[in-house]
Amino acid sequence: MAVDPKISVESVSKRYAGTQGPIRALSEVSFAVQPEEFVCVVGPSGCGKTTLFRIIAGLEEASSGTIYLGDEPVDGPTTDMGVVFQEYLLFPWRTVRGNVAFGLEEQGVGKDERERRSREMIDLVGLSGFEDAYPKSLSGGMKQRVAIARALAVDPKILLMDEPFGAVDAQTRERLHDEILEIWQETRKTILFVTHDVSEAVTLADRVVVMGTNPGHIREIVEVDLPRPRERTDDVFAEHEERIRALIGE
Ligand code: ADP
Ligand code: MG
Repeated sequence: MAVDPKISVESVSKRYAGTQGPIRALSEVSFAVQPEEFVCVVGPSGCGKTTLFRIIAGLEEASSGTIYLGDEPVDGPTTDMGVVFQEYLLFPWRTVRGNVAFGLEEQGVGKDERERRSREMIDLVGLSGFEDAYPKSLSGGMKQRVAIARALAVDPKILLMDEPFGAVDAQTRERLHDEILEIWQETRKTILFVTHDVSEAVTLADRVVVMGTNPGHIREIVEVDLPRPRERTDDVFAEHEERIRALIGE
């Protein structure tokens, strides 16, 4: 099997035309995510995380700089990358199964294969038994599981997530952390996960890209060389957390 592509972010800058003059959202951001790596991008609100996420996903153009998937520049959305947003963005008129099967329908995958693949993904995210439920009857955590299953259904090489657990309660979030790590270990996807929560980043990531604000830039990339599952009460965990908090001035 071919090796999954590396994501390279090369000198990406972004300016928005604001009403009071241009807003510099990102300045010269460069880093790479290796195949099968779990990388978190962390930084305070407004430092350009969502802007960076949207540029990497091909949903927004950089003002300068380039994103590469392997050797190929990204110039629009691609099925190589599955995306999960903070807002669940499920289709309210579709069931769980219908939501998960959406991308497969778009790709013209036949009904039997669609059914098989959807069932497998629903199972993977722990929602078996809820296939026929509609989003409005699901909790926030369950909706986000559906969004993850939908992103994974088309078998992207990379999973991009922007504060996916920002809107769920703390207890559910911890369970989702265990689950996303299990999914990562099972599927060997490359994951780029954006969060403003330092503790979440240290819980999940192999490496944490720490961003600062005005304009958004990389302060440092911190390696988290701790075995999983990680304990927040562990001394080394706390050291990493403190170091990153200091870097972003928390
Ligand atoms: P974060 O996700 O880290 O909170 P964002 O990427 O959403 O940060 O925003 C970074 C900066 O860019 C902020 O100052 C924000 O107001 C500005 N910004 C984001 N999107 C737009 C837009 N579409 N038009 C103008 N300014 C924007
Ligand atoms: Mg954001």
